[in-house]
Amino acid sequence: MNFDINHDTFDREHIWHPYTSTTNPLPTYKVKSAKGCTITLEDGTELIEGMSSWWCAVHGYNNETLNNAIKEQIGKMSHVMFGGLTHEPAIELGKLLLSIVPPSMSKIFYADSGSVAVEVALKMAVQYQFGKGKTNKNNFVTIRSGYHGDTWNAMSVCDPVTGMHSIFGTALPVRYFVPSPSSKFVGEWNEKDIEPLKEKIEKHHEDIAGLILEPVVQGAGGMRFYHPQYLVEAAKLCRKYGILLIFDEIATGFGRTGKLFAWEYAGIEPDIMCIGKALTGGYMTFSAVLTTDNVADTISNNYPNAFMHGPTFMGNPLACAVALASTKLLLSSGWEENVKRIEGQLKEELAPAAALPQVADVRVLGAIGVIETVKPVDMAYMQKRFVEEGIWIRPFGKLVYVMPPFIIKKEQLTKLTSAMIKIIGEMEI
Ligand SMILES: *Cc1c(COP(=O)(O)O)cnc(C)c1O
Repeated sequence: MNFDINHDTFDREHIWHPYTSTTNPLPTYKVKSAKGCTITLEDGTELIEGMSSWWCAVHGYNNETLNNAIKEQIGKMSHVMFGGLTHEPAIELGKLLLSIVPPSMSKIFYADSGSVAVEVALKMAVQYQFGKGKTNKNNFVTIRSGYHGDTWNAMSVCDPVTGMHSIFGTALPVRYFVPSPSSKFVGEWNEKDIEPLKEKIEKHHEDIAGLILEPVVQGAGGMRFYHPQYLVEAAKLCRKYGILLIFDEIATGFGRTGKLFAWEYAGIEPDIMCIGKALTGGYMTFSAVLTTDNVADTISNNYPNAFMHGPTFMGNPLACAVALASTKLLLSSGWEENVKRIEGQLKEELAPAAALPQVADVRVLGAIGVIETVKPVDMAYMQKRFVEEGIWIRPFGKLVYVMPPFIIKKEQLTKLTSAMIKIIGEMEI
């Protein structure tokens, strides 16, 4: 093939972007560089970052501390296999992470991405049940509106409608789904909310290995904030029926919801927990699965006496080094005040949106601000308007939301919120 064509044409005709058609692709904007909360496009346009690059870049871009951590590590080694070898970044990172997650988490498994972490967590649950002699307990239950990643089994526990299960037909394992809780984070707890899960578990516990959910905040499956009491009730059911509780904190972790991890809202410790996204401050793909002695020992003390997973790039030293630097920086940067400040400002500045006829709901938790519209948005059009306003926000479905870097300045955040309200106000009613 002849690729003597300009960049834009090559990108449009040959490179597949996320959730995009190749024959009628959504437009892309070419980025030259990014620093702090600003993305600079090829033509010099500067955009205020409202997405933290899909919720990862909590410290903004081109952070000197993180840059140096990678540079320093690259001078020692970029990678060594993790089978039979180990290294300081993996050990130091493990020490730090296990000191900030639920106290019962004592074992850490490094994986390549959020989706892979979910795959690993599901495998752990099944292998745990196998170790217990419960070989029938190999399915999963979850709540609707969830999102757990795009790989095969991660996809199988995503919301069946937004996750497009129908197009994969019988190729996709069939999981047990119950409605997601209707009790809102800020409202009263309605004890009827737990009934569907209770009924499902009572009926099918003999083949359920684990319950997987995103604690308190459901991200890409609908940006919903639900009542922490649901986790308390769900945990009781899991314990009663020998079902492992798996928290997917890939989106909620590292301060995003106002707590360091969202389990803290309920005080309920899971058996297995997945973290990713902001783990490396948005520098590299990386994730981890954390679990208890009980789960790890049951897997390890029974046939085949090992956990059967081990990716090529497991425990990659560059990723560990930058994750260590990012987590240290987060803990020393006053993240809590920053997230509180962002939350307060989002609440104040997004409130007027509730009066717009185009808007169905406005909600804020931690450094997450969501405007839900009445009608689905035209993503390509709205994206273009946002770029014209000098901001970077990528809406989906009926959700126009911001998850800014924690270092965002007051004026920068105001630019995001005012443009959100302005552009949503331009939508046809
Ligand atoms: C993004 C996300 C994933 C998948 O992570 P990838 O790194 O994109 O594979 C899984 N679970 C949750 C809750 C997420 O937000």
